[in-house]
Amino acid sequence: MSALEKTQVDYDVIVVGAGFAGIYAVWKAKQSGFTVRGFEAAPEVGGTWYWNSYPGARCDVSTYSYAYFFDPEIVREWDWSNVCADQTEILRYLRFAADKCKVNESITFNTKVRAAKYLESEGLWRVTTSSGQEYVSRYVIMAIGALSTPKTPDIPGATDFAGLKLFTSDWPKDRKVDLAGLRVGVIGTGSSGVQVIPEVAKVAKTVHVFQRTANFVIPSEAGPVNPEQVSSLRAEPSQVRKDLRATFGGNQVFGIGEHRFSELDERGRQDALQRAWEGKYIALAFRDAHLVEANAAISEFIRQKMASVVTDPWTAKQLVPWDHPYGGKRPCRSDQYLQAFNSPHVRLLSLKETPIVKIETDGIQTSTEKFELDAIIYATGFDAITGAVFALDIEGLQGKKIRESWKDGPVNYLGTMVHGFPNIFFPSSAMSPSVLSNMATLAEQQIDFIVDSMLWLEEHDHGKLHPKAEAQEFWQKEVLRYAHRRPGALTTNSWYNGANLPNKPRVFMIYCGGFNKYHELCLSELRNDFPNYELLQTPELSLSAD
Ligand code: NAP
Repeated sequence: MSALEKTQVDYDVIVVGAGFAGIYAVWKAKQSGFTVRGFEAAPEVGGTWYWNSYPGARCDVSTYSYAYFFDPEIVREWDWSNVCADQTEILRYLRFAADKCKVNESITFNTKVRAAKYLESEGLWRVTTSSGQEYVSRYVIMAIGALSTPKTPDIPGATDFAGLKLFTSDWPKDRKVDLAGLRVGVIGTGSSGVQVIPEVAKVAKTVHVFQRTANFVIPSEAGPVNPEQVSSLRAEPSQVRKDLRATFGGNQVFGIGEHRFSELDERGRQDALQRAWEGKYIALAFRDAHLVEANAAISEFIRQKMASVVTDPWTAKQLVPWDHPYGGKRPCRSDQYLQAFNSPHVRLLSLKETPIVKIETDGIQTSTEKFELDAIIYATGFDAITGAVFALDIEGLQGKKIRESWKDGPVNYLGTMVHGFPNIFFPSSAMSPSVLSNMATLAEQQIDFIVDSMLWLEEHDHGKLHPKAEAQEFWQKEVLRYAHRRPGALTTNSWYNGANLPNKPRVFMIYCGGFNKYHELCLSELRNDFPNYELLQTPELSLSAD
């Protein structure tokens, strides 16, 4: 191909997705001098906070940490109304941030990306939208989220139900859903189910909760914001940002037990647990809370607290998670969920005892009873992490599809890049601190790492970067090594390890070595000229302006 026939480059960077990571990616890449185009399937920014608009949706991480810190004006001008903001407020916040950073003009909304193919001889990516339009870029940032592909309900007859079918992961936006006076069934008792059930119970005639596995539910931190805390965040946002990255979870920690579990006698342990419960830091009741024995004591304490809330003994027993330790899967937070089962019109069904046989046109048939329903709410979760990647047709070096590279589970290096897929980045994806850290802190940290990597490549003759195969193998082992240390991580069925989908490979998909350590490893690659990556060179390309 002659120089004149070279593929026209439309943008330096294409960003797919406009949630926390996508908004910041568009801004950061533009600030760094790149031409950028974002694509977003929804009609506006928000990502997960756009789609999951079910009643009760709320962040259970405090807004003191779950927010942007890159722009001091955003920190100083936005007033949160609650320590744990609800979905409507977080969506308003993301709109505000996007407006302030003027990123909307660089994003094409209502546009789903379908495919991304690496044009090897030119070192470019061709991105195709679902309407068939093609765009060529030098870099792609797949800010597509970890929990953005809902799991299809795998229950016989699910499509037959003639009443109202609702999904927490895609709550209707075009109308107000009125459940007042209806007979409602809810399937799923993870974080989404736990939040939606008490809200539905406030208006519905009856609520039947179809629970397969009980989850840990601890009180939330929701409540009025502390003005002193807000002032301290506003004083020096760049320092807050730095400090968050130096923590284990990317979060501000407001309480931690004074003693190690091993230092205390039984009385001391119970006192420490009670103090931590009242101080809302039960997960860190002891300095060595990560150890199996300490975790077992924390788990048992929470089980007792949970059971004490529910008046009916059978219901209490069913709602308590006996089968896994605290933190083995994502714990839920609510001040209303367990309490809702004390209302006479809310009834728990244990699918372990009486499984659903099928969904019929007018309700749900279990092995022992038929429940006539006007509405069914599916809070059945997501094809987490890999689902969003596999929803796209991504093809890298030598025509290899990412589906093939990840057929036995996701592999990458430092949770952002995959061997054989140069210059395409996957923030918030597999093998990163992900939901075992604060996703907002992670979004900023990973996008900084990604854009800094792109700037480094610009200085290196527009090279193409991908991790070495051995670096990827090392990272896989590293993720597993830390998972072994986390109580319940490898023994509990959860979306963390693919067990929530029948045919998904069982691979633990989250790096739990700590946010601080992860951040240092990313910085070390930048500082040392990417020793664990391969740099590919391709001919100089002519660029068009945005
Ligand atoms: P989830 O945690 O995966 O929970 C899905 C629920 O549906 C589980 O109880 C599951 O039971 C049940 N389920 C799935 N298929 C079923 C079937 N065929 N029959 C009966 N029950 C079935 O999903 P999620 O609640 O949407 O939460 C996903 C993640 O989103 C959370 O872990 C969290 O990271 C995030 N989230 C965060 C917040 C927040 O406050 N920040 C709020 C909501 C969600 P089994 O456990 O038996 O599979």
